[in-house]
Amino acid sequence: LTRLFGPIASLANLGVNVYGSVALFGRLFEYFDEQPEIADKPNAVQLEQPIGHVELTDVSFSYDQNRPILSHLSLVAEPGEMIALVGPSGAGKTTVSSLVARLYDPQTGAVRIDGVDLRDLTLLSLAKTIGVVTQETYLFHATLAENLRFAKPDATDEELVRAAQAAAIHEMIADLPDGYDTLVGERGHKLSGGEKQRIAIARMILKDPRIVLLDEATSALDSASERAVQDALAVLLKGRTSIVIAHRLSTIVDADRIYVIARGTVVEEGTHEALLRKEGLYANLYREQFERAVLDASDRDLPASV
Ligand code: ATP
Repeated sequence: LTRLFGPIASLANLGVNVYGSVALFGRLFEYFDEQPEIADKPNAVQLEQPIGHVELTDVSFSYDQNRPILSHLSLVAEPGEMIALVGPSGAGKTTVSSLVARLYDPQTGAVRIDGVDLRDLTLLSLAKTIGVVTQETYLFHATLAENLRFAKPDATDEELVRAAQAAAIHEMIADLPDGYDTLVGERGHKLSGGEKQRIAIARMILKDPRIVLLDEATSALDSASERAVQDALAVLLKGRTSIVIAHRLSTIVDADRIYVIARGTVVEEGTHEALLRKEGLYANLYREQFERAVLDASDRDLPASV
């Protein structure tokens, strides 16, 4: 994912309005010595009250002309649904997610939110509507409060606490001698992987986007931390449309619909049970790829729902 989203993702991951500042966007590309391909059209519109309907219609995409990555891919997430993307490594799952975030435009087909082609939306409107949670959480060398407020600069102290409580990180923060004023980041108080993930979730709860793109972390956390992260994610995703690149059994089982992506297109779709009954690629992947998770979970003395 880092490979794909690169520096932009680490900002998006903060819950920051990546596209919010045209200047920032310009600077990023200046820094990487590239021209921004993605820009507002002259008559770009805003989504006033997004409902969170996401649709990819017959999308084909390649990073460079020679190698098609997505081919005639279609999928839909109805408002409030959680859809999961699964498939072999390199199949194009992250690419789908980055097209929804409009880091790239498809060569053919369209990506629409609430029926509006992303190319007709302002980048600011899109950035407000979508929140990205990636596997890596970047913490500034600043206080926890400042790190959280990055997602919503005008958030009140009460809002910070509510978001941290919802993300199951408030108690840990409150137990620190300096609480929300604790300095974190490279040179500050070190947070565990699970704590960082919950900070990222708290940021996203503060940002309150209608649509969440989530690349689930693959790295194993200890069981208590894992459960806390899962609970926090459940709070974040509730009532929002989410597109999850799924690595966990629980996500897949709970998803409203699973899209199995192979060689850049959707090869199967359905609920977990329906796909298992089909005895196709999903059933194979599930057994191979996710059996290990069950074994790991039992090693850690957890139920197989991790
Ligand atoms: P994984 O499960 O391993 O993360 P994935 O299904 O998410 O894989 P993608 O990351 O979407 O797959 O990658 C699909 C293909 O696109 C891969 O062959 C990858 O090498 C290629 N690719 C990804 N990002 C870029 C990029 N920025 N430039 C060129 N090619 C890329």
